[in-house]
Amino acid sequence: MFREMRRKKQILTPEKSIEILKKGTSGVLALSGDDGYPYAVPLSYVYENSMLYFHGAKEGHKIDAIRTCDKASFCVVEQDHIVPPKYTTYYRSAIAFGRIRILEDEKEVRRAAWLLAVRYYPEDTESGRQEEINKYWKSLCMMEFSIEHLTGKESIELR
Ligand SMILES: Cc1cc2nc3c(=O)[nH]c(=O)nc-3n(C[C@H](O)[C@H](O)[C@H](O)COP(=O)(O)OP(=O)(O)OC[C@H]3O[C@@H](n4cnc5c(N)ncnc54)[C@H](O)[C@@H]3O)c2cc1C
Repeated sequence: MFREMRRKKQILTPEKSIEILKKGTSGVLALSGDDGYPYAVPLSYVYENSMLYFHGAKEGHKIDAIRTCDKASFCVVEQDHIVPPKYTTYYRSAIAFGRIRILEDEKEVRRAAWLLAVRYYPEDTESGRQEEINKYWKSLCMMEFSIEHLTGKESIELR
């Protein structure tokens, strides 16, 4: 069902594609938005075992879109190095397709929030992390994106 990449020489291995997701600090989540307009929204995230975790508010365009349709894609650009004399960019990126769900179970929410906290502030203490999660607990919404299909691509010049 998912498409094959046309330019085979530029395909990254699954391991390298995952590496992009592990290294990235933000990406663009594409959802089915209002009235057939796609909603592509930039978000921080964390990758773990073929899953991506996001945090956000309990209401808004993003949440409404997820509640309407759980199919999503997420794109992370690792490199976009413009080379003016060549009228090109030396790029590397990954695109994941999958299903996204809003976590409801308290244990799952805490675990996902913890993963994000470790990703973005690994130097914090356990109690510092816990405090931060508790501070935002009431308004915290965690989302889990289960990756069904992942591709990575880099410009031919990087091969
Ligand atoms: C690098 C980066 C990382 C981010 N990380 C997070 C994160 O981890 N969690 C989080 O909740 N938010 C994050 N944000 C903010 C995020 O992009 C959204 O603004 C936010 O999640 C609210 O989304 P919403 O659909 O609920 O907003 P709503 O206010 O409900 O959206 C309504 C409308 O506002 C406009 N809009 C919303 N967001 C943006 C935007 N970023 N830029 C331009 N127009 C916008 C759109 O037209 C949208 O239809 C990040 C933004 C950036 C750039």
